[in-house]
Amino acid sequence: MFKIDMHIHSVLGHDSIIEPDDLVPIARREGLDAVCVTEHHDYSLSSPFDEISRQTGFPILRAMEYKAREGHLLIYGVNVGRGDMPSQMPMQHVIDWVHQRDGVAVPAHPYQGDMFGSCLGDRLSDLTNLWAVETLNGSASQTENEQARQVADQLQAGGIGGSDAHGPTGIGKAYTIFSKPLITMTALIEALKQKNYQTGSRTGLSN
Ligand SMILES: [Zn+2]
Ligand SMILES: [Zn+2]
Repeated sequence: MFKIDMHIHSVLGHDSIIEPDDLVPIARREGLDAVCVTEHHDYSLSSPFDEISRQTGFPILRAMEYKAREGHLLIYGVNVGRGDMPSQMPMQHVIDWVHQRDGVAVPAHPYQGDMFGSCLGDRLSDLTNLWAVETLNGSASQTENEQARQVADQLQAGGIGGSDAHGPTGIGKAYTIFSKPLITMTALIEALKQKNYQTGSRTGLSN
């Protein structure tokens, strides 16, 4: 078993209070085997984590979270910067763009409304080229996670878990359990496409 918290924000992304140097000690304490940092909009923001990973010997993978027109997308394996993709593009367009580049785009917290009350919701079931859906998000409600799980099952997509931590106590609240160690993004992408993983959580979160 190899546990990865697939969705974490740090101060480098400007909307979290997690200091980069605090991530590894907390992740270890939580029993995680790796983490994936997903700063907003720009892959390069998380680059200092490469050195932290090297110094600590703890696997820190880097992805990003993109704000599409209908909701948020986690993008693994394609290193998108602000110049590559303007925000608010239609979600299907971005999923296809990532797919063509052999990455994996995963709708994040698809049933959780944003601060304006809008969310992807049932439009999730119309999306194509999906390898996985975030079916366990540490900041979404149980009902929202269950709805995401139901649609992921209908789509025959995998379901991943991530804490969506914006503070130290959130780290490890939800994670994805893989059957073997994955310490490079290439290996993670391959595993995501095999859909052979489950979600797990620290507390009573379930889906
Ligand atoms: Zn989000
Ligand atoms: Zn997030």
